[in-house]
Amino acid sequence: MTATLIDGKAVAASLRATLAARVAALAFRPGLAVVLVGDDPASAVYVRNKDRAAASVGIAARTIRLPAETNQAALLAQVAALNADLAIDGILVQLPLPPPLDARAVIAAIDPAKDVDGLHPLNAGRLATGDAALVPCTPLGVMKLLDAAQVPLVGARALVLGRSNLVGRPAAALLLSRDATVTLAHSRTRDLAGECRRADVLVAAVGRPELVRRDWVKPGAVIIDVGINRAADGSLVGDVAFAECWAVAGAITPVPGGVGPMTIACLLENTVTAALRRR
Ligand code: NAP
Repeated sequence: MTATLIDGKAVAASLRATLAARVAALAFRPGLAVVLVGDDPASAVYVRNKDRAAASVGIAARTIRLPAETNQAALLAQVAALNADLAIDGILVQLPLPPPLDARAVIAAIDPAKDVDGLHPLNAGRLATGDAALVPCTPLGVMKLLDAAQVPLVGARALVLGRSNLVGRPAAALLLSRDATVTLAHSRTRDLAGECRRADVLVAAVGRPELVRRDWVKPGAVIIDVGINRAADGSLVGDVAFAECWAVAGAITPVPGGVGPMTIACLLENTVTAALRRR
């Protein structure tokens, strides 16, 4: 048996097309502000991609570049200005911030209605209590991939590997909200392989190259690999040993081309959602 490939590029392209049509029908252009502090090359690439993707669906994107020496007060003042700006529906502060800036305080200063990264404590709390919230883009993308592959979630055993605020925790909350029976595993979990083997749906978000091996996978399980890691030979690999697990799983996402393209598409969706709620 070989698994069905869940094509994140195709699902993301279809989501962008839907968003472009929705935006074209609006009487206004949703506005997204991306704040980039410092000159980290990887962050600069991410921000450029976000800018391009926003423009491709008709969102007015504005990138605010601040020098690495920006202090906390100046960054908070920038966030306050964007909170007050009526043309801006979504605010994203690109992480990580250069030290000694305090990312938690900056995220907490963003208007929760404009928090398109879904990281503000109010949105995280709403998600945890099952209320409508702006949801972090990567786990939102994970759910859309599961839906695109028509994976039954009600009553399914779902294992989320990794408990970060960015991916693991919100992914677990979203799976729970869809009536999966959810286990949240992390670096202190005993018998990780055994926990994984029980899962009908396995979401891996650990940042450890090819941690999940063939004998960790229940035959026919659906695997969503969030990990993006650089292998020794310089290639990109996920948290799942794809070539091995492909032979056992029922469906699996590739890396690259799985969750990655969904993250930016979901940022655009969150911007449109925030705009419609606000205006
Ligand atoms: P993170 O904040 O570093 O969290 C990693 C989680 O994995 C932690 O909960 C940690 O456990 C757990 N963990 C680490 N090593 C482990 C091990 N050997 N066994 C079991 N659990 C282990 O990472 P993140 O931000 O969630 O990102 C995870 C991965 O997803 C990274 O590769 C990142 O690049 C990727 N990512 C991809 C996208 C995308 O768009 N595709 C977006 C975001 C992140 P403890 O809590 O116990 O330390």
